[in-house]
Amino acid sequence: MRDSKLHGILKQTFGHSDFRFDQLDIINTVLDGKDALAIMPTGGGKSICYQLPALFSNGITLVVSPLISLMNDQVVSLSEYGVSACFLNSMQDIHQRQHAEDSILNGDVKLVYVSPEGLLSGYLLNFFRELDIALIAIDEAHCVSQWGHEFRKDYTRLGGLKDVFPDTPLLALTATADTKTRADIVSQLSLDSPNIFVSSFDRPNIKYSIYERGNEIIQLHDFIEKHHKNDTGIVYCLSRKKVEKVTSDLEKFGHKTVSYHAGLPKDVRQQAQDAFNRDDNIIVVATIAFGMGIDRPDVRFVAHMDLPKSIESYYQETGRAGRDGRPSNAWMIYGLQDVIKLTRMLETTDASEAYKKVARHKLNAMLSLCETTLCRRQYLLSYFEEESAEECANCDTCMEPGETWDASVDAQKILSTIFRTGQIFGAGHIVNVLRGSKNAKILERGHEKLSVYGLGKDKSTNHWNIVLRQLLNMQYITITNWDYGNLALTEKSREILKNEKVFTMRKFLEPATGRAKIKARVITSTHGRDALFEELRDLRFSIASEKNVPSFVIFSDKSLHDMCHLMPKNREQFLLVNGVGESKCENYSEDFLKVIEDYV
Ligand code: ADP
Ligand code: ZN
Repeated sequence: MRDSKLHGILKQTFGHSDFRFDQLDIINTVLDGKDALAIMPTGGGKSICYQLPALFSNGITLVVSPLISLMNDQVVSLSEYGVSACFLNSMQDIHQRQHAEDSILNGDVKLVYVSPEGLLSGYLLNFFRELDIALIAIDEAHCVSQWGHEFRKDYTRLGGLKDVFPDTPLLALTATADTKTRADIVSQLSLDSPNIFVSSFDRPNIKYSIYERGNEIIQLHDFIEKHHKNDTGIVYCLSRKKVEKVTSDLEKFGHKTVSYHAGLPKDVRQQAQDAFNRDDNIIVVATIAFGMGIDRPDVRFVAHMDLPKSIESYYQETGRAGRDGRPSNAWMIYGLQDVIKLTRMLETTDASEAYKKVARHKLNAMLSLCETTLCRRQYLLSYFEEESAEECANCDTCMEPGETWDASVDAQKILSTIFRTGQIFGAGHIVNVLRGSKNAKILERGHEKLSVYGLGKDKSTNHWNIVLRQLLNMQYITITNWDYGNLALTEKSREILKNEKVFTMRKFLEPATGRAKIKARVITSTHGRDALFEELRDLRFSIASEKNVPSFVIFSDKSLHDMCHLMPKNREQFLLVNGVGESKCENYSEDFLKVIEDYV
């Protein structure tokens, strides 16, 4: 009975025909008055889990959300669905604030967004204590945990909520997986024997690809030209300097680009964030400072120009693509320098040895994702302790299966060179010796007299770097001095030197020459390039501009594609489009139906 009512609201208000993942169970849990922890991948649809109960129950639903800047969009987006909500935060002036408080007291709103520090100020706590609070939802709940990667001190005080509202169910929501963080959320928030829901971490619409770094800007430009002309995307770089460089290079190629990093003045960052939220085809080049607060569902690609420090970071960053479920790309290039840079950063911090050990382990796992000859998705899911029986057919290793080759002889050449030069040099010098360079360092040391000198002349520096890195990642070589990246042999090296073991490697595509030929499942459908889609997109843009809201608040790309597919002729048919509830149908069906009719 209740379920069918909930389905009714889902369709009428939000325009979705079915619940996804554990949405329905989560909603039922909180409606039964129980606490819950919901772990769902980004884009999984966490918001529905508290928005729908808010419409179903009598009291007010409080939503704790870490980013003040997003609250307005969330409220506007809800009002497009015909749901009345408001927010209370420190950015409001006294009149706005008074207005919001009045509408809460008058019972005009179902949902109230608050920041964690706001909610815990004595004033608001007393204000809400007098009201009927049906549910408290805590978004981005991993911020409460020191184990998580985005710990926020103000979140820890949320532990006091249970004391103040002992009868109100708490719903904690996050996209962070690991079990430690999970347990920490439960204890920090004092959740009362919560039901825990963990949805699959698979993001089937994201295609993962990882390539060797060659000329990185050309590689990035080619990728964007080929798959993402006029799309919105994020390009992550490790340093601020590189952000600026990549931005200016992309601009030279004519891409609409903005920079974002913590070194920029606040207003410049805000402008970048605004441009990202409003513009239809914009590329943000950023450090990981650009992260929280990305609510946009139609980010079509996330490109990594440098290796992230862990699979958790990689998955979170790539997860910002394709939250609307449409085909999207997670594309990355990496090289030997990344490993050295990240390792140096790690080894020179003051962190405890225990921490460093974990961090080294995480970096290694990240590297083996790059080096794997297996399906990237299988690798990723198994990292999150999820089995997947089949190869995904939507990652580079599945679509462009890497050949392997016997690299034993080349590996032996590298190991011998490291050994004969005394195990005190970095990769650059080793490769120079192998390739018979005549630079000063070699001549000073007399390394041109070694038997290994010039033994690798026939192959490129890039080739040797790749083999060397694989040896490093598979622990056939170790780094002994992090400042200089000095290399030495390990226990395992002997297996290769003595021919006890064949060293097979993934065949890498030399990026500058033969680039990957993408086979059958090219992501053409990423862009609805057909004329009708473009017209609908234009209409959406003009409505959004008029209302001064982001386009996706009006309709998602998914809804527009659905319109192209269904070609609705009247309001009844228009209501069948994904994401069209009664309110949006009322407001927009006429304009959109007109465009469709003219097109026909
Ligand atoms: P997140 O889990 O990242 O907070 P959101 O709540 O923002 O995700 O939802 C992501 C997208 O999925 C939105 O565009 C939303 O409209 C859509 N969505 C949510 N639930 C459903 C559903 N049951 N069916 C179809 N689309 C849904
Ligand atoms: Zn795959």
